[in-house]
Amino acid sequence: MKVFKFGGASVNSVERIQAVGDIVADHMQQPLLIVISAMGKTTNALEKVVEAFYAENKEMALQLFDQVKQQHITTAKYLLTTGYLACEAQLKDFFTEVEWLLHDKPVREYDYYYDQVVCVGELLSTAIVSHYLNQQHITNTWLDVRDIIRTDDNFRDAIIDWDFTAKAVAHIKEGLLKDNGIVLTQGFIGCTDENESTTLGREGSDYSAAVFANLLDAESQTIWKDVESVMNADPKVFPEAKPLHHLNYREVIEMAFYGAQVIHPKTIKPLQNKSIPLLVKCFLNPALPGTVIDGNGVKELPPIVVLKEKQVLLELTSKDFSFVSEHHSTELFKLFEKFKFKPNLTQNAAIQLHCVVDDLSEKIEALALEASSIFDVSIRKNLSLLTIRHYTGEYYNKITANRTILLKQQTPETIQVLMTEE
Ligand code: ASP
Ligand code: MG
Repeated sequence: MKVFKFGGASVNSVERIQAVGDIVADHMQQPLLIVISAMGKTTNALEKVVEAFYAENKEMALQLFDQVKQQHITTAKYLLTTGYLACEAQLKDFFTEVEWLLHDKPVREYDYYYDQVVCVGELLSTAIVSHYLNQQHITNTWLDVRDIIRTDDNFRDAIIDWDFTAKAVAHIKEGLLKDNGIVLTQGFIGCTDENESTTLGREGSDYSAAVFANLLDAESQTIWKDVESVMNADPKVFPEAKPLHHLNYREVIEMAFYGAQVIHPKTIKPLQNKSIPLLVKCFLNPALPGTVIDGNGVKELPPIVVLKEKQVLLELTSKDFSFVSEHHSTELFKLFEKFKFKPNLTQNAAIQLHCVVDDLSEKIEALALEASSIFDVSIRKNLSLLTIRHYTGEYYNKITANRTILLKQQTPETIQVLMTEE
């Protein structure tokens, strides 16, 4: 039994969906559970719909949603012949669910509406792909993952109820997946016990797939991406980036923690806990080796670079020249918790605390305001946080040349520097 995850880029055109069909057709000799994201940039487009709705700009919200509708209808028309009408009926049900909501006035919190609207991206993409595969005689069952993945109501970052979900997954394992069955469902979304849709955090489909892999005791999980493999740096920023064909869970969890965009940070734990290998493969060329991530030791890794841009430095200085104590740090971390906000790096000095955070202006302002009762707060923007794992002096000097370094933190394995943007 294998779990496949196809991301938004792998289903963002007719040709790509056809290529997904070819990949699945090559792996039909075993049970397959397939998790798919929303097409291309649909999630971003739906975020704009929610923003307009919450700003009580109903016309705009409906108009933006209409664009999403048209894109999906057009794709379905190109792909489907016999199955088109059945697919259209399914898509229309989802459209109606959202449109009803958009006609209301917002009375609850933003994050609740976000999840009710944004979840439709995955429902639409999977409906289209499922109908297409069936048309190609790749017989599969489409499931609404909201009947399987149960979560709490922490909208936009919901936590999975593993007990409920495990039972629902066991049912699928004993039923639909028997006899080399194929199940196709959504990543990223779930549902509360009150039947409200939830989402698991942006890019969360990798995690959904890992939850399934864990509960199915899958032989492996494959994430199909548009890159040849995991690289030791972002090739768009560092053209000399090299492929990494073998990594272990620990390395990937560290990379994700420091901000590498490769795989959603929550993905590794469910796989590691059951020793399930994670394969990263290129959907543009499935013959390429890709990357295997497992529990085995990996020797001789090259320097691995993660660059986080648009970083902000908060300098918090104690008001009366007193030393920064446990009390100060505790108060500060309480604030981070309150605003659901995590520093990417912290450093203490005698009378100062330094925190490096993502540039989320509203949260920063709110946090700075509250922190100003205990600290003098200064904010510096437009910085980059560079992390190098397995660094060498030579490599470090090369990539930090001509940059002003504001903070540095170092262990024998990892070096992190906060620097001015180029
Ligand atoms: N569609 C969601 C997003 O774009 C989830 C995912 O792609 O993993 O964040
Ligand atoms: Mg995606």
